[in-house]
Amino acid sequence: MIANQTNRPSGMPCPECRFFIQISLEDLLYKQSFQCPSCLLEITMDRSNSQEALKLLQDVKIAIDEVKQASRFNL
Ligand SMILES: [Zn+2]
Repeated sequence: MIANQTNRPSGMPCPECRFFIQISLEDLLYKQSFQCPSCLLEITMDRSNSQEALKLLQDVKIAIDEVKQASRFNL
């Protein structure tokens, strides 16, 4: 159940063609822009307007890292 959550692909639908662009959490946090593989639209992350979203993502990433550490203890 926890494993299913970590295996779920992260990303977002392209605003132009609705193609689901797979973006890893690391890419979402650190990359400046993405390109839609379907219509080649360039999507730029406006970080000044998305501080809230970025903080949320960082919390998610921390939670995933904690899950990974916890599962290591279970081995
Ligand atoms: Zn597209």
